[in-house]
Amino acid sequence: MRPIIAVTTDTIPDPSVNTKPNTVDIAPTMFKDTILQAGGVPIIIPYPSHPGLIDEMIAAYLPLFDGLLLPGGPDVDPTLYGEQPSQAIGETNPPRDQFELALIRATHAARKPMFGLCRGSHILNVAFGGTLYQDLATQNPAALRHLQRTSGEYPTHHVNIAANSRLQRQIGATAYVNSRHHQAVRTVGRGMRVAATALDGTIEAFESIDDDLVLGLQWHPENLWATAPEQLNIYHDFIQRTLAHRIHRQAAAPPATEQVAAEQAG
Ligand code: MN
Repeated sequence: MRPIIAVTTDTIPDPSVNTKPNTVDIAPTMFKDTILQAGGVPIIIPYPSHPGLIDEMIAAYLPLFDGLLLPGGPDVDPTLYGEQPSQAIGETNPPRDQFELALIRATHAARKPMFGLCRGSHILNVAFGGTLYQDLATQNPAALRHLQRTSGEYPTHHVNIAANSRLQRQIGATAYVNSRHHQAVRTVGRGMRVAATALDGTIEAFESIDDDLVLGLQWHPENLWATAPEQLNIYHDFIQRTLAHRIHRQAAAPPATEQVAAEQAG
């Protein structure tokens, strides 16, 4: 049975319908395709426009999925990691930030694996108390170019994968990756360790130390695996972990139908 992977969304203008607000909630097609290719089934979960509904929505969403994938998107609000916005900050989306932070905490409490990519890794890191570069180019002028002008399916810089990391078991000691970010992880959150760095020292991946529940990745394997098949291993490992934790949960607590049967028998 394939595990269910929830994918959070962005909101973008909808050119096709003449209403106001004229927007759609979306997730990129390559996440759907890559989750399916790696053995999972995706579901897309929008955030509420009204933050008062966050808790209710998360309570309803949480039983539906085995793992959470957080895609890229706009910048994370810097006040969430204790900074005021710099001149170089990009657009932020406060309702999405609030929803994803609450969803990350609930998912972690439920011990379901999480995989954040690009902005998704940033909000994941902030949820665990980590910090970000608001803008790598202005805050670290020695950094190489991480906002590549080349189309995103092409790799543009190399990364070193940390020895003894789970990530190294998945893809080896080095990788050639795409890079579509102007922000980056600055310090990793509680319980996290650096799992990959670019040659300028920029953090490109982190993972949880004491369990296998959290992976944050700065690059986009979903746009690379067609020509670099080992990049699919990262998704495959994530899907396998979501399945292992589901089996563990089911062993610890019998399915609801059995509980109902037991109560009726009692
Ligand atoms: Mn990069």
